[in-house]
Amino acid sequence: MNRAANDLSTAELRELYRELILDHARSPRHFGKLSAITHTAEGLNPLCGDKLRLYLQIDDDDRISDAAFEGSGCAISVASASLMTDAIIGMRTAEAVDFSNALIASVTGRDSPVELGKLQALQGVREFPSRVKCATLAWHAMNSAIRRDHNPASTE
Ligand code: ZN
Repeated sequence: MNRAANDLSTAELRELYRELILDHARSPRHFGKLSAITHTAEGLNPLCGDKLRLYLQIDDDDRISDAAFEGSGCAISVASASLMTDAIIGMRTAEAVDFSNALIASVTGRDSPVELGKLQALQGVREFPSRVKCATLAWHAMNSAIRRDHNPASTE
């Protein structure tokens, strides 16, 4: 049986959430700095102490050709940044912003207009309202980077 992630049951989503957070917090993908950076933003979540800096390389075609992040924070914030960099590489900036806004909507309990695939599992954080900001931090930072907003993206 082959089903889309959107058809997963609550129990399956919960299990996927646990697996994704553990895996990506333990071995974050794209952790570090890029050699060529066109866009960057800082993300701060004072509530939890999560701090990250996101680096993007956006080509003349408006496509994100590479992404990386540095920083420190809780497992959820690190895993979410890792999952995000994995997801957005190859996307056009407009597509990445749409995806980001849909992800933030999904995590904060609203309907997502975009198919999120396995990242739908991040909505598992809804069960822990104080951690929602940890899960959305990297995504807010990406939106800031693309807007070339130089103020840190703060969850407050
Ligand atoms: Zn956190």
